[in-house]
Amino acid sequence: MRGVIMHGPGDVRVEDRPKPTITRPTDAVIKLAATCICGSDLWPYRGADGVDATPMGHEYVGVVEEIGDAVEHIKVGDFVVGSFMASDNTCEICQAGYQSRCVHVVSMGSIGTQAEYALIPHADGTLVATPGQPDPDLVPALLAASDVLGTGWFAAVAAEVGPGKTVAVVGDGAVGLLGILAAKELGAERIIAMSRHADRQELARSFGATDIVEERGDAGVARIKELTNGLGAHSVIEAVGTQESMMQAIRSTRPGGHIGYVGVSHDVELPGAELFFSGVHLHGGPAPVRRFLPKLIQLIWDREIDPGVVFDLTLPLEDAAEGYRAMDERRATKVLLTLGA
Ligand SMILES: [Zn+2]
Repeated sequence: MRGVIMHGPGDVRVEDRPKPTITRPTDAVIKLAATCICGSDLWPYRGADGVDATPMGHEYVGVVEEIGDAVEHIKVGDFVVGSFMASDNTCEICQAGYQSRCVHVVSMGSIGTQAEYALIPHADGTLVATPGQPDPDLVPALLAASDVLGTGWFAAVAAEVGPGKTVAVVGDGAVGLLGILAAKELGAERIIAMSRHADRQELARSFGATDIVEERGDAGVARIKELTNGLGAHSVIEAVGTQESMMQAIRSTRPGGHIGYVGVSHDVELPGAELFFSGVHLHGGPAPVRRFLPKLIQLIWDREIDPGVVFDLTLPLEDAAEGYRAMDERRATKVLLTLGA
């Protein structure tokens, strides 16, 4: 099969890879219907994380081609969506709703789903079947549920977004934008998007942002305070993962408020005394997307939400290198990779 391999920073190639086969009775193999490039794939692309001929990709939707003997709930032919973390969905951590930290977790990034086929560990726990075969125009939205929508949704839930709340969103990538969509769905009264890119501001407004703040750092914080009677937002979504974005989130939150942080943390160090006196709640980490998948799939199936619009560039898998370049140069927010029939 064909699949994406990153050989080093900026060096993405599509190569022949062995087609996966069932290795454990709880596995499934899916034929991908679509896959995509994640903002977090840019960390190794830019040299911030090491790679060595690494298979890439952790988002996926597709059709089950083969199942192991112990798989009971997922059937061959099902159209399925799964999270970027495979989980058994039965351990105590999964049952508490934190499937991305399952005691048997397998990172789908270690498997590499930017490919024609993918092995799915813990198929019964990981995969959620859609109510039927989706119309083609629903596929991008279902693919978004695999990570960016589920992550934005978790961030909003972790930030205790709800009716009457003012929400600020730090980060205007796909996760931040879909955090806005989630905040709107969860009933937020006011949603402040922090973005300085006109196209992303427009998308933010279409998802429900009521205010846009272009300033960042201390100036951004000051602007959020101005918009909230000097108090700060009730709920803040952090969707970047840098020192600046994390501090911007903490300082934009009112005492007693909540921060949902889902940007993959890179060299973030929190000053203890400032954190202590801020009086804010911090909750985040790798989003337990699996917790939200049944609800999100239904919202998409019923056409209540369309997170698929975050994909603003669609390319064949073979052109993955151009997709990485486009995201790196911010010519694209998120790139969908199509597969041959
Ligand atoms: Zn588990």
